[in-house]
Amino acid sequence: MLVSGLRTELLFLAEGGNGDLVRRRAIGAYLGLAVGDALGATVEFMTPREIRAEYREHRDLIGGGWLHLRRGQVTDDTTMALALGRSILTAGRVDAHAAAEAFSDWMRAKPVDIGNTVRRGIAAYRLSGQPESPQNEFDAGNGACMRCLPVALVTLGADPDGVAAANRAQAHVTHNNPVSDAGTLTVIRMVQAALLGTAGSGIIPASAGRHGAKAVLKQLADELVAAEPVFAYDRKRMENPSAYIADTLRAVFQSLFATDNFEHALIDVVNRGGDADTTGAILGMIAGALYGPAALPARWVRRLDQAIRRECLEQAQALLQHSPLCQARVPPETSA
Ligand code: MN
Ligand code: MN
Repeated sequence: MLVSGLRTELLFLAEGGNGDLVRRRAIGAYLGLAVGDALGATVEFMTPREIRAEYREHRDLIGGGWLHLRRGQVTDDTTMALALGRSILTAGRVDAHAAAEAFSDWMRAKPVDIGNTVRRGIAAYRLSGQPESPQNEFDAGNGACMRCLPVALVTLGADPDGVAAANRAQAHVTHNNPVSDAGTLTVIRMVQAALLGTAGSGIIPASAGRHGAKAVLKQLADELVAAEPVFAYDRKRMENPSAYIADTLRAVFQSLFATDNFEHALIDVVNRGGDADTTGAILGMIAGALYGPAALPARWVRRLDQAIRRECLEQAQALLQHSPLCQARVPPETSA
């Protein structure tokens, strides 16, 4: 076992100098996804007014919600990402068949929740053996986006076409839709920019710091809006966001750009209600990469389901290790 208990994990996070910055941020992204999912799930499908009436402000991992979750329990957003991550680590790359098999195994294990488009896509794969669902103008839900983090990690440093192709391979198992593709690819790019942000990647000068990284994330969101105006997020405050990818990302972008730390961003987005576990998951991965693991409230990380926390930590590092970025600088003792 790589880690034993939270104490060791936090000590491990506290180690590491600048060279480990990208690795630490990858861990922040994976834990951010899981805590965002667990935090939001309590208020999924509630309106902001219902949330205010019940909690004033929802700000802790207390479980419950329509799924009657345990405290710290995550939902399909995190467990599908982990299933995809396992398939990538086993296959050695993002592979559509391997992803479809992993999703099918995941569905067989009776997940706590599952989206309709996801269920239909997996059922169709089981019948046809074909991992690419036909293009469908209605499959613009957020189900491919919520699980995209392993792709962002394992393709870090790959050329843009390679990143887009890897994303389509996993996404089209269930969601073959250009709006879903565009939104999901933007989230992947935002995570990657945040991971590399202050590490002197060449994308953003190291001197630009966190502020510079955030400006780049804003630029990526604005490029998405220019290409697909349905994502315009500078209008009315998005409350009660649906599972439509454009609604989901409008809420995520508004909360990300209106706040300046992980906790405030996550509390802001989940209190909008609607598909709150998924806005929490997606914002959690971006903000976790941007602000780093030390910015995640300890009370959230501590309460997160232990087995999930451990697998997030392990996958974050293993996926990053397989990325072109890390393969390009294999340490001498491991190169044959
Ligand atoms: Mn969910
Ligand atoms: Mn959801």
